Amino acid sequence: MLSRGQSAPELASLNSGDPTASPIRKPDDVCCPMPGSPDPAAAGEQLPPPSQDHGQEGANPSQAIRPRDGAISEFLVSLLECPVCFGYMMPPIMQCARGHLICSSCRHKLSVCPVCRVSMSNIRNLAMEKVASKLIFPCKHSHCGCRIRLSYADKKNHEEDCEFRPYFCPYPDDKCVWQGPLKDVYQHLVSTHENVITMEGNDIIFLATNVNLEGALDWTMVQSCHGRHFLLSLEKIHLGEGCQQYFAACRMIGTMRDAAEFVYNISLEANNRTLRWQSKPRSIRESFVSFTNADFLVLNKSTVELFSEEGNLALNVVIRKAQEAGES
Ligand SMILES: [Zn+2]
Ligand SMILES: [Zn+2]
Ligand SMILES: [Zn+2]
Ligand SMILES: [Zn+2]
Repeated sequence: MLSRGQSAPELASLNSGDPTASPIRKPDDVCCPMPGSPDPAAAGEQLPPPSQDHGQEGANPSQAIRPRDGAISEFLVSLLECPVCFGYMMPPIMQCARGHLICSSCRHKLSVCPVCRVSMSNIRNLAMEKVASKLIFPCKHSHCGCRIRLSYADKKNHEEDCEFRPYFCPYPDDKCVWQGPLKDVYQHLVSTHENVITMEGNDIIFLATNVNLEGALDWTMVQSCHGRHFLLSLEKIHLGEGCQQYFAACRMIGTMRDAAEFVYNISLEANNRTLRWQSKPRSIRESFVSFTNADFLVLNKSTVELFSEEGNLALNVVIRKAQEAGES
């Protein structure tokens, strides 16, 4: 029905006929096993007996150092690969009665040691916890291309927002199962979802046509400006008999850190009325339990009627850098 490259007033994306168009799926993390398999038995046998007398002193991650001998560092890091999930073990590091190490999340799922089959103990290996606090580890998305190495204190935060962590398709229709690196999200959207229209410029009109059509509907477009891509969407949701709400959102095809650098405005103007909304875009990475409790512009049916003309709602979307907008 619509194609890319149309003039602004004609641009609208209408995905009708889907009575179940619904909230964006929560982008749960994708479990990526670490490459390479350690030799668990060898790893366990290398360990010193657990120390019972020291606490966590000396484990200040801010003092993490990179041992001068890279080979020793790599060897120590390899000793900290969990034999079950192949992730790196971070404190608390548990061990069996014979000294085989296991990460704490795998420990909770097992009653016997995966290496020697003796009963698992609740003994921590404080010596290896101290070793872990001094090492730097590869990001868990290293097999997807991330080259960053970090102390365990910084690792989790980075991995949450790592640009190499696979992204789910952000199209507001949870039927698409695509996932891939951030750099491929835009191409996937425009090549796979033919309803998605693209538009260049930081000040555009996002025209949603036939907003009064019955059923749950969504309108989607990609706005490209400042060298980045932003996903605009208007969702119409039925909350019950005669009760409809519209959610207008701007999400960035970027990491949460990237998204924090921008501010967007949505304004509606019609029939001598003006409505303005300003917020920061969300990253497509962020998980939304549902549209109904997210930080978006929410319009009820009568507001939409006031601002729509001949069944079309024109949203003027302006995206600026937060610094230029006087925000931090
Ligand atoms: Zn594990
Ligand atoms: Zn064991
Ligand atoms: Zn990373
Ligand atoms: Zn998709």
